[in-house]
Amino acid sequence: MARQRYSDFLKQLYGMRVQKLNVNAGFSCPNRDGSLSHGGCIYCNNSSFTPAFSNSSATVTHQLLEGKNFYNGKYADMKYLAYFQSFTGTYAPVEKLSALYNEALAVPDVVGLVISTRPDCLSDEVLDLLQGINVTHKVIVEIGVETIHERTLALINRCHSGQCAMEAIGRVAKRGLTVGAHLILGLPGETKDDMMATVDEIAKLPVNSIKFHQMQVLRGTELARQWERGELKLIDWTAQEYAAFCHRVFEHLPPNITIERMVSMAPPNLLLHPHWGLKPAQFKALFDDLY
Ligand code: SF4
Repeated sequence: MARQRYSDFLKQLYGMRVQKLNVNAGFSCPNRDGSLSHGGCIYCNNSSFTPAFSNSSATVTHQLLEGKNFYNGKYADMKYLAYFQSFTGTYAPVEKLSALYNEALAVPDVVGLVISTRPDCLSDEVLDLLQGINVTHKVIVEIGVETIHERTLALINRCHSGQCAMEAIGRVAKRGLTVGAHLILGLPGETKDDMMATVDEIAKLPVNSIKFHQMQVLRGTELARQWERGELKLIDWTAQEYAAFCHRVFEHLPPNITIERMVSMAPPNLLLHPHWGLKPAQFKALFDDLY
């Protein structure tokens, strides 16, 4: 069985071609507002993954209409998914979440939701809400797992355990929701065997898709400060070495798990390490050429 491309996975799930539109609903994160910690994960810099049209001072409706304009005309029959990506997409009272998600779904051509969140921000009440929405509009829950290794989770100040992440995957899947997992390859102190152990554990769980990215050191983060002071050890791989490792990772994953992506490319003005100078499509070509 060949592994499905992510675009085909989405097409199958929604019955049509869809494009994700980022929404910044103004959520915070318990790992930044003091509930768990003030510092956040040591690598966190949300501006690296928030596009210009996604601005929390604008309403959800306005952001989605701007996003639609941005993609307008790419495909005549294009529909959209509201992607609550910034910070923690379920971190608000359930009534507020319900209002924001339903506002998104009321925008013409928005046919579903993708909600990115921490595994410890998925209460039963939140899952009740998402399960209800899923009856009429498919919901993908993207869970930030990153690694299952407790020592790494402590080092990066994630403030949740690996066990919590694995249980969250099971709880979300049990509600009939589509599960995406987010993993980082190259976290401080991790060997390739450590990374593979995470991949192998996650592969045993009811995960529909995985989004990988390489550890990136971004300007202004605690990770950058510790790395510049030589306090943290990071794997120093070239794009070719990383691509070869991705091949190994994929061999460990059953074909029914779709790979959403393998790399993330932060804006050059923010990125300190590693400097590969490749766009995602160029990395994909390098990956395809390897074997
Ligand atoms: S959980 Fe996400 S938003 Fe919160 S600090 Fe970590 S990376 Fe940042």
